[in-house]
Amino acid sequence: MLIGGEWCVSSSSAWFETKDPYNGKPWARLPRGNADDVDRAVRAAHAAFTSGPWSKMIASDRGRLMYRLADLIEQNAERLADLEVRDNGKLKVEMLGQMRYIPRWFQYYGGLADKIEGAVTPIDKGDMLHYIRYEPVGVVGAITPWNSPLLLTVWKLAPALAAGNTVVIKPSEHASVSMLAFLELFEEAGFPPGVVNVVTGFGHEAGAALAEHPLVDRIAFTGSDVGGRLVSRAAAESFKRVSLELGGKSPHIIFEDADLEAAVKGVISGIFAAAGQTCMAGSRLLVHENIHDSFVEKLVERMRQARLGDPRSDTTDVGPIATEPQLAKTLEYIQIARSEGAVCALGGRRPDTDGLKDGWFVEPTIFTGVDNSMRIAREEVFGPVLSVMKFRTDDEAVALANDTPYGLAAGLWSQSLERAITIPRRLRAGTVWVNAYRVVSYMAPFGGFKSSGIGRENGKAAIYEYLEAKSVFINPKSRISNPFTLQ
Ligand code: NAD
Repeated sequence: MLIGGEWCVSSSSAWFETKDPYNGKPWARLPRGNADDVDRAVRAAHAAFTSGPWSKMIASDRGRLMYRLADLIEQNAERLADLEVRDNGKLKVEMLGQMRYIPRWFQYYGGLADKIEGAVTPIDKGDMLHYIRYEPVGVVGAITPWNSPLLLTVWKLAPALAAGNTVVIKPSEHASVSMLAFLELFEEAGFPPGVVNVVTGFGHEAGAALAEHPLVDRIAFTGSDVGGRLVSRAAAESFKRVSLELGGKSPHIIFEDADLEAAVKGVISGIFAAAGQTCMAGSRLLVHENIHDSFVEKLVERMRQARLGDPRSDTTDVGPIATEPQLAKTLEYIQIARSEGAVCALGGRRPDTDGLKDGWFVEPTIFTGVDNSMRIAREEVFGPVLSVMKFRTDDEAVALANDTPYGLAAGLWSQSLERAITIPRRLRAGTVWVNAYRVVSYMAPFGGFKSSGIGRENGKAAIYEYLEAKSVFINPKSRISNPFTLQ
């Protein structure tokens, strides 16, 4: 772990193992951080925030450090991607793409660091001068999941650092290795000690201690709704600012006038890329009744050819599930869907062929005949399981799409300009893709409506999530008319 610029183990000397999802074998041993370790890390971050070089550094120099870091990440992309694949079993091609994209976040927010402008504003107080200045929140606790460990941490780190905060990261217990290698690059780039710290360990131990710590000013969490609720409650004790990026049950709507070949690919990228383990997975497919059968046939046909295998291989389309509990959960939901009366049109099993049976694989699975009230349509599976439903009218499609407790993302396929413009307005989701799916950018806000979370990451405005606005009034006359009234 990295605490105050020192690489260390847990004060308890305890360790835990993580396993490679492709073969189920342990491959890494990590310090099991506890509340005492978190306390040391938070104090180091607090000291770096309140005194030391970081607290005095001008914003342009913070930006320069971030540019240097971006270059180092580019140079180390291959190595970081390899570590992530060992940890979470996602395809090498996907993780390498993410590693090569991450530097953009540091360049974008590094560039913003010295462009946070306060303002002198008009004020209704005679000769008084009023101005607004933006100041960093303080110590930020970043708690992150296993599915895109570095990318989702960077969504928090880059704006937090650009704004002048210091950070303590608690990565997922299932995928912490890349984070430790990543933090070596911060040292190499020249970030002062204590600005970025990492404590590895479990959610209910290290994670909970971070969410509760009184010197943490803000928590940025990505993970499950169960975790989000616990973090939110703990943070409420000391009124920490909180952002939550949670799950989804995102609708993917195929209108009759869609380019069906392109839409099939879009649906695949929505639910079978990363074996469905993305928060924005398009796990509910809504298809117009006139094209339903032929569209499902095309999709099943294409996915029958999908190659399951070693996530490191260029010829693999679908890798394993990242963790053993997630594998069990996915298989359980397949059972639930069957018992609810959904029809399994593809997959539905754990493959037992050589080369796959030791890993945590689930066949790409498609259920038709799903009713939106079934659990398989309402609850997040986080695996390669698609629920297909029919609709007749545009209104029905919108109503079905919105009939979910979640609101993270939605996709629609249509060649009608009218639908492309009017349907996104009607969908209650933080991101809507038209004739596309699973597109994100450092320039575009990302986050959820409803139970999918609170706050937005990415885009220019995200930097204000890590800043406090301060109002300063200056009275040039040093005179108070009546001290017993509001001035
Ligand atoms: P999780 O909630 O189990 O864990 C996320 C993180 O929270 C981990 O670091 C974990 O150790 C920590 N944690 C767990 N309990 C905690 C507690 N009581 N106090 C403090 N920390 C605690 O989620 P996961 O299984 O790692 O990730 C999958 C979930 O993340 C899915 O629901 C998915 O939809 C969601 N997700 C959301 C987004 C998004 O941007 N909206 C992106 C990716 C994943």
